[in-house]
Amino acid sequence: MKKSVSLVDLKGLNRNSVYNFIYRERTTSKQQIVQGLNMGLSTVSQNIRLLEEARLIERSGSFNSTGGRKADAIQIVRTARVSIGVGILLHSIYIVAIDLYGEVIDSQAFDLDYSNSDEYYYMLGQHISNFIKHGHWQKPDILGVSIATQGTISANGQAVDYGEIMNNYDMKLSNITKHIQYPCRLEHDSKAAAYLELWNNPETENAVVLLLNRNFGGSLIINKKIVKGSHMHAGAIEHLCISRDGPRCYCGNRGCLETYCSANALEAAAGTKAHDFFDKLRQRTGDASEALGVRGGGVVARVNERSDGELRDGGGGARVNERSDGELRRMEYATIWADYLDKLAYAIRNLSIIIDGSIIISGYLATYFTEDDIKTILYKVNSSPFPITREQIIVSTYGQYAPAVGAALYYVDEFKKSV
Ligand SMILES: [Zn+2]
Repeated sequence: MKKSVSLVDLKGLNRNSVYNFIYRERTTSKQQIVQGLNMGLSTVSQNIRLLEEARLIERSGSFNSTGGRKADAIQIVRTARVSIGVGILLHSIYIVAIDLYGEVIDSQAFDLDYSNSDEYYYMLGQHISNFIKHGHWQKPDILGVSIATQGTISANGQAVDYGEIMNNYDMKLSNITKHIQYPCRLEHDSKAAAYLELWNNPETENAVVLLLNRNFGGSLIINKKIVKGSHMHAGAIEHLCISRDGPRCYCGNRGCLETYCSANALEAAAGTKAHDFFDKLRQRTGDASEALGVRGGGVVARVNERSDGELRDGGGGARVNERSDGELRRMEYATIWADYLDKLAYAIRNLSIIIDGSIIISGYLATYFTEDDIKTILYKVNSSPFPITREQIIVSTYGQYAPAVGAALYYVDEFKKSV
């Protein structure tokens, strides 16, 4: 009896090895699998057949071989399964579907004010099932729904245990699963965003992740692992104190990084929305200030556009005054942005001493960073005795979708282990 169980295990292991070899290689041949895994030809053939029957792999074209018959090119079916990721914020939700390589194949954002009520969780469930319906995926193809939320998650993953921003202290996974007919899990949004960066930068050993969303979120990556800490709040660098007498943070303390470098803090300082702020800030600054990332949430900064003053049709002195107003505003925004970068660089310098690795800038504001901004940060950071290089700074391009995408990767990883 024991022997037959291990035989079943071995068969499963072989199938899993073949699938993951194809996954890693992206395109391969039967012969390459035989050589790469040092596995018998008949075992490889049998597993290829099983995986093909399950529609998990496909033959696509052929390789040019050195002689004889051309070999079939084998790939995984990257849309054989889909993972859904959801990012919950106080006033909005972001939903993504990713394929088995973690590529976003669909995304949507909705306005929905959070409240710990059955009505809210019902609406959340409705948005998710409409999104899935719209994508025409079949129920068995959905691996699960992974939900990233603000607030730290209890060690057993069943509830939020610190949820000051959204006041979601009472958010429980069971509240949500009631309205979602798929496997479901909860994750802290900044940890999810950090996981996305680990996925995209697998060579990263150690890093600090700065999630510049409406609220600041942080994570530490050490030895390729996201550090949770003894009480699940390691890496909460949003509450790193930058100035003891600074503004009051929602956590109750003063001068936290949150109060200077979150998107909310930037918008409060500028008195306008982030996209308007950068729109104005980047005017007439030429190609050198083209943002590094892809815009999140459909916001696209317009570079080289004329100022409001110039667009208005006025004559003589009035027009000059309006233009001056535009210039003054731009100068004011430049000062606010310089102060923002100064505070961020201050934090980066301190964190860099602890982590001695990559600095990953992610989230909503990351999509507005320019090469000049990175140079400014490097200039300020490099006054410390441990300089960091340009290569150590990674700017993420997922915008506000980063936590949702990172959360969705969980089910892809689980699937790869279970094939
Ligand atoms: Zn704080």
